[in-house]
Amino acid sequence: MPPVPSECCFPLSAQLVPFETARLTAAALALPLNQREDVPLACAAGRILAATIEAPRALPSFDQAAMDGYAICLSGRTGVPLVLPVAGRTSAGDLPGVLAPGTAHRVMTGAALPEGADTVVTQEQATRRGDLVRFGFDVAPGTHIRKAGEDVAQRSAILQSGRMIGWAEIALLAALGIETVPVVRRLRIAVLSTGSELRSVGAALLSGAIYDSNGPMLAAMLSGPNAHVTPLTVRDDQAAIADMLKSVARSADLVITTAGMSVGEEDHVRDAVMKAGGHLDVFKVAMKPGKPLAFGKLAEACFVGLPGNPQAAAYGALSFVRPIMATLLGEAPARRIAAELAFTCSRKPDRTELVPVSLQVERGRLTARRSGPDGSHRIMPMVSADAIVIVPGASQPAEPGTLVEVLPFDRSCFRG
Ligand code: AMP
Ligand code: MG
Repeated sequence: MPPVPSECCFPLSAQLVPFETARLTAAALALPLNQREDVPLACAAGRILAATIEAPRALPSFDQAAMDGYAICLSGRTGVPLVLPVAGRTSAGDLPGVLAPGTAHRVMTGAALPEGADTVVTQEQATRRGDLVRFGFDVAPGTHIRKAGEDVAQRSAILQSGRMIGWAEIALLAALGIETVPVVRRLRIAVLSTGSELRSVGAALLSGAIYDSNGPMLAAMLSGPNAHVTPLTVRDDQAAIADMLKSVARSADLVITTAGMSVGEEDHVRDAVMKAGGHLDVFKVAMKPGKPLAFGKLAEACFVGLPGNPQAAAYGALSFVRPIMATLLGEAPARRIAAELAFTCSRKPDRTELVPVSLQVERGRLTARRSGPDGSHRIMPMVSADAIVIVPGASQPAEPGTLVEVLPFDRSCFRG
């Protein structure tokens, strides 16, 4: 029989670290990679900016018509309505024209404002008769012009280093004519599913075995434009786990294991981390689900040991792996958001509850509804959820209406 892991190997084992302390410790575990690469704009979506971007030009970069209509010069004039001859025409894309004194100049939306014009009158406010146009009383000087620089001033810092590039940022960079974008290099993450019961999807399943769902789940959750995930599996064997940890730590920025984190007879991960030369800063967090959860360093790589039950593994990743990844990427901190509970959440004073919820606006407030029954082995409550809520410990249940922090499954909609 394999030896029972000894508590004395872990001087911190007595400390059940509070959830919030563990979150801060996780974020501080890593240092920013500070490694940049330049990518074409078309490949920049979802990446993290590695430098602050200055606007090489103003936006708009020239005064332009905001509507289809007529450019005129109203300064110094009194006595609208006006009747003016139409002389000249500028469409979007044409070189800027010149407004001949005492005339109106036909312009289309986006056209450069002709030199000498100070107002655009919409075609709806004008009556055209042949080469003459008549404007009514409602013409206001200076209207319907997009002024150069009113959106973006030339040389202003428009996007800060650490910002995630979403579709709006892509629009901005494209409008400024920026072809290549400095981004932080992708993270290399190894996800090691431990457990002798695990089979990969596609393999035959004998009674007593299960398919590895944590590996595919974490690969799907964590891989993306900023991270490449390598999933691996290993049986419950201290030496085999240690060997694999040692080998993946050489080429990974972040090593994650699932299962085998507790002190049962087949829980070997903590000993294996030590054996592989790593150390753990935290290895029990006061949370439900997911108490047996450790993190520390394995050579230069950050290490997170997640529990085996799918909800415990997932919520540990949302709570701790994502902050570590954000630090490595130098990403601006995600905004924290809160919702009101729509259910009574039982709790205990000494631990934080993480509960899967679906979110929706009810009576004008963002409201969190529990998405399934208790049980960290269940997968269906996650499938029905948008987020988890973080319910701090207390001796009384959290009643409906209590405001709690939300960790969205898809965090890109609340980026910093
Ligand atoms: P453990 O943390 O090793 O005690 O595992 C807790 C529970 O999670 C057990 O029922 C395991 O069979 C299950 N489990 C462990 N690893 C995985 C995995 N990769 N995918 C799905 N379930 C798992
Ligand atoms: Mg196990």
